[in-house]
Amino acid sequence: MITLTNISKTFSTKKETLQAVSPTSLSVKKGEIFGIIGFSGAGKSTLLRMVNLIETPTTGEVWFDGVELTKLSPKQLQKQRPQIGMIFQHFNLLLNKTVYGNIEFALKAAGIPKKEHRKRIEGILKVVELSDKIDYYPSQLSGGQKQRVAIARALVLNPKVLLCDEPTSALDPHTTENILQFLKSINEQLGVTLIIVTHELEVANTLCHRVAVMEKGSIEEEIILSESPSPKAATSIGHLLIEHR
Ligand code: ATP
Ligand code: MG
Repeated sequence: MITLTNISKTFSTKKETLQAVSPTSLSVKKGEIFGIIGFSGAGKSTLLRMVNLIETPTTGEVWFDGVELTKLSPKQLQKQRPQIGMIFQHFNLLLNKTVYGNIEFALKAAGIPKKEHRKRIEGILKVVELSDKIDYYPSQLSGGQKQRVAIARALVLNPKVLLCDEPTSALDPHTTENILQFLKSINEQLGVTLIIVTHELEVANTLCHRVAVMEKGSIEEEIILSESPSPKAATSIGHLLIEHR
């Protein structure tokens, strides 16, 4: 489903050039939960951000469902982007917008007609069990609730893949467990493929089918933790919604 071929990233400043990711190839299967682990500065986030081209690779190709993303024009890429959602360690919510406004922001960016917004936002908030917080601002939410809003914002576009950069590092152990189980259910029930960057071995152990260990910009090793699921067609969010009624 996702194939990275000889992907690399070099950051150049006036003073120095730094190879954050050395040429690396990687394949992630549909329905898989794939982990990227390693110490701080290993290049995990940079590698993840190249999957959806938030970070432009210096060399190499990114393929997604048979389409070479690295070859697309910005406009073509914009069309593909909703298929790849992303969540972050610090949630990256817009502080001056409510929960509704934060999720609507994603719908607007993807060009979804305004008349569909409320229904879709209310639907996805049911999935993340935050219907009662629809008019709250991020400052009025707990860490776990903020991350669930961020997940809702990503899921509202029905992505096939969710990229997660340290999704639980800012959360306490109990909330971490809660979010990990939720990510697992997204994978199992919706068939969403997950790529998760973490420096917590526990997170990788709980969740991942396969893990790449990164060191100094290279993947040193790939470890199979459990059998990958048989590919399952991604269903729409509606499926989960029905189960929540
Ligand atoms: P952490 O676990 O601390 O988040 P990481 O494995 O995610 O670390 P990256 O953020 O990918 O590491 O960074 C890899 C290297 O690339 C680091 O040395 C970092 O300083 C450098 N780097 C990352 N982004 C940039 C940038 N925009 N400009 C210059 N250097 C960068
Ligand atoms: Mg990082």
